[in-house]
Amino acid sequence: MRQTVNFSAGPATLPEEVLQQAASEMLDWNGSGQSVMEMSHRGKEYMSIHAQAEADLRELMGIPSNYKVLFLQGGATTQFAMVPLNLLRGKDQADYINTGEWSKKAIKEAKLFAKVNVAASSEDRNFTYAPRQADWKLNKDAAYVHYCINETIGGVEFHWTPDTGDVPLVGDISSTFLSGPVDVSKYGLIYGGAQKNIGPAGLTIVIVRDDLIGQARAGTPQMLDYKPQADNDSMLNTPPCYSIYIAGLVFKWLKARGGLAGIHQHNLAKARILYDFLDSSSFFHNPVAREDRSIMNVPFTLKDEALDDAFLKGAQARKMIQLKGHRSVGGMRASIYNAMTIEGVQRLVDYMREFEKQQA
Ligand SMILES: *Cc1c(COP(=O)(O)O)cnc(C)c1O
Repeated sequence: MRQTVNFSAGPATLPEEVLQQAASEMLDWNGSGQSVMEMSHRGKEYMSIHAQAEADLRELMGIPSNYKVLFLQGGATTQFAMVPLNLLRGKDQADYINTGEWSKKAIKEAKLFAKVNVAASSEDRNFTYAPRQADWKLNKDAAYVHYCINETIGGVEFHWTPDTGDVPLVGDISSTFLSGPVDVSKYGLIYGGAQKNIGPAGLTIVIVRDDLIGQARAGTPQMLDYKPQADNDSMLNTPPCYSIYIAGLVFKWLKARGGLAGIHQHNLAKARILYDFLDSSSFFHNPVAREDRSIMNVPFTLKDEALDDAFLKGAQARKMIQLKGHRSVGGMRASIYNAMTIEGVQRLVDYMREFEKQQA
């Protein structure tokens, strides 16, 4: 058992069982005499890993058969461009919801290709809530509606799925990927980088309804076009084989833990421990509207920011790492992804309680 509890926002903690298995298979995968890193991506060994990973992800998320699953590279950031390049489909405008740092980046990139209508924004309250759908000003001529399902930096999560009618809904799910059940059929496209909640950096997963692809903007390079990627089973070029292999082990780990419904209960229990403590404390503070709090990323501040360094030092001494908040918001942030244990969260809360008492 590892002693250190890692609260990193990403790349982030992975299940110990998965790392153990990867270690045991490092030199020789399944009697093949080679590590997964050394295999031809066209060979039968790797092809079986790749196909199994996709099948398990489809089963976990209940992905309908008219959706493609793509294992790509370039991170969620590349999707900020690929989404407009592929989904504008001859239109010139798209709707975006602005709920924080990642929304802003997606909007900035989309503006290279489209007229962006910010249909709703939570900037008026410093990005501490998710705007109700009744307040969205959707444009019926939009090619799609984009929102960030969970703002990793601000710790704001949509706990409901927007209804955009016939206009395809696009969700950046990077930091809540596989944290709980999702109704894929309500989306035109879902994307996320793997390094928050699924596996190592280097893998980006895109789930896209098949009628939305094949109409990329003229001049789109093939690597940025979903259609040739889908037609080639994400093997238009060498895929991020090792990252896909680890993701596949994580999918198996999730299936053994009751799938997404099972892990969701676990995640809710962890988040409750931390938020209940924050709400009971007059020393620590989380700024997010209660009903929109993220179950994965929990930012919090101390009463006096001059104590931040002492808090982090004490955490480090108790083997709790990567609690420093994002530079744009300051304070602390505890990311409590799927692989974080209840004991890990409890250790943090015990330390916070002790620290608060010391300061009183
Ligand atoms: C981390 C993150 C990104 C950027 O991901 P990269 O894989 O580094 O490009 C985008 N959106 C959200 C919500 C994120 O958490």
